[in-house]
Amino acid sequence: MIVSWNTTNACNMYCAHCYRDAGCKAEEELSTAEAKELLNQIARAGFKIMIFSGGEPLMRPDILDLVKHAADLKLIPVFGTNGTLITREMAADLKAAGAKAMGISLDSLDADKHDKFRSFKNAWAGAVEGMKNCRAVGLPFQVHTTVMDWNSGELEALTDFAVEIGAKAHHFFFLVPTGRAATIEEESLRAEEYESVLTRILKKQQEVSIELKPTCAPQFIRILDQLGMTSRFKRGCLAGLSYCIISPRGKVQPCAYLNMELGDVRQTPFDEIWKNNPILKKLRTLEYSGNCGGCRYKNKCGGCRARAAIYHNGDFMSAEPWCKGGIRVEENYFVLHQVGASTCAGGIVRPLLEANAVDSRIPRL
Ligand code: SF4
Ligand code: SF4
Repeated sequence: MIVSWNTTNACNMYCAHCYRDAGCKAEEELSTAEAKELLNQIARAGFKIMIFSGGEPLMRPDILDLVKHAADLKLIPVFGTNGTLITREMAADLKAAGAKAMGISLDSLDADKHDKFRSFKNAWAGAVEGMKNCRAVGLPFQVHTTVMDWNSGELEALTDFAVEIGAKAHHFFFLVPTGRAATIEEESLRAEEYESVLTRILKKQQEVSIELKPTCAPQFIRILDQLGMTSRFKRGCLAGLSYCIISPRGKVQPCAYLNMELGDVRQTPFDEIWKNNPILKKLRTLEYSGNCGGCRYKNKCGGCRARAAIYHNGDFMSAEPWCKGGIRVEENYFVLHQVGASTCAGGIVRPLLEANAVDSRIPRL
């Protein structure tokens, strides 16, 4: 299980897509003692991978202390960072504290494009320097790319770059229009492009030995199956099932982009929230509506619950709007029809009608 804690809202950049709308340190961020107690509760809840993110997590002065605490709890501390603050010394200190991997953002091979997206001069150079510093001290790192319309043509080249510089993996983050990203919604990909970009990424995986992973594009699980490929990833959307996120002030959400507060760790221990929250329980039913509800991949993929909520008035169990796969529901119901027809003439009518009704709600993009 994976949990992400936005350690701080402070950031040295002002990225266009930031879901946290980070910049300045937020008021009342968790103190060191509160953060350590949160880590205790995270371990108690059974989580293993502990993502320190932000804002920019390396702007927290106590970050090394917290990483060490997490490692002492046998959590696996990893980072989501812009990389610019990873000096050689910091890389060595992070490794010594117990950090297992750094996820460093790089959105383009064109430094100007990356810098513009991140609103920070030399963001690109700083990120690459951070990668080199990790490599120099033997701290594993991976490249994180936010996929937009303006960089979707260079994803394979970015993977080649990741291989060349020594990254262990290249993860592709698909935009969910929340926070500042809502203002660049029109730059995000749509269903047709999703299919094509995801297919390209999965095909590129055949050429490289580092791990490629689309993130927050859960339909990649369906496409894998359709391409006859296998992967170690067994589930698309993890929100509420084996993943959640905590804000700098200790508010828990099912994921960064699903803007629903599940509880406050200052009032209720995290492990209790994780176990008992009704929204989490609902997510765990997998009882979706729309095309996801009838889709034969719903248990493995699940669609993006955040995009479902954003595009369906907060209904987080409704259809993932940017998936073309819902048509597969017809095949499932057609099979039911064939099997049932010979034994129970009345029983087959309703499922078939439901299938048609579901199909009619597939978003036309
Ligand atoms: S709801 Fe969407 S953004 Fe959140 S974890 Fe699932 S796929 Fe990712
Ligand atoms: S319809 Fe929903 S569950 Fe099915 S593949 Fe698409 S996003 Fe996944």
